[in-house]
Amino acid sequence: MRQNLQRVQARIQTATAAAGWTTPVELIVVTKYFPAADVQRLHSLGIRDIGENKDQEAAAKAADVGQLAGLRWHFIGQLQSNKAKSVARYATAVHSVDRPKLVTALSKGVAAAFDAGERSQPLECFIQVDLRDPVGEDNRGGAAPERIPALAEAIAEAEGLHLAGLMAVAPLDEPPGEAFARLAACAQRLRAEHPEATAISAGMSHDLEEALAHGATHLRIGRDVLGERDHSR
Ligand SMILES: *Cc1c(COP(=O)(O)O)cnc(C)c1O
Repeated sequence: MRQNLQRVQARIQTATAAAGWTTPVELIVVTKYFPAADVQRLHSLGIRDIGENKDQEAAAKAADVGQLAGLRWHFIGQLQSNKAKSVARYATAVHSVDRPKLVTALSKGVAAAFDAGERSQPLECFIQVDLRDPVGEDNRGGAAPERIPALAEAIAEAEGLHLAGLMAVAPLDEPPGEAFARLAACAQRLRAEHPEATAISAGMSHDLEEALAHGATHLRIGRDVLGERDHSR
């Protein structure tokens, strides 16, 4: 794990240097399908940002590892509104906000967590953008680009939420760089209205270089740090 992490960090170094990128990039290690013991191992190697895509799994791991100093949970999967309350208890950030109903549910969840003394900071919200062109009918998560302004407004006005920026997964049917270029254009338009929304969560194990070349500030890396996921578990 240590070597994998070093290799990924070296790739990030090379790619950020090539892009002339000077602000530090946030590496989120995605631990879905891996046990809480791996989260502890990652923490001992200096990782503080952990990504999960299912509430049940994430909540159990967050309870398991308890209060590891400085650990931050990033929720990166499709989220049902009825899970928002649970996620608001442990997550620092949700990268998959894609509809107004979820904004309302997360805001309520954060308010409840504030009241219960379970959190003290606002929830960082990323709008997930569907980069498929044209946007497909199936619901794979993500809002069409034209829906970003209204969602951004809703998050900015919601109690307990902070608009961080945009998130996307590159579609499989085109070179990732082209999709990330469209995301960068969306991010620029968003910042014109919401200067605080500077984050771009893009880039996974196989396309982190392309994401960094197009301004990614947050990378979500699973397999290149932890290895192949065992989906039978
Ligand atoms: C699993 C996952 C990742 C990590 O992907 P790898 O290919 O393992 O690096 C990133 N983002 C999302 C939304 C994921 O679900």
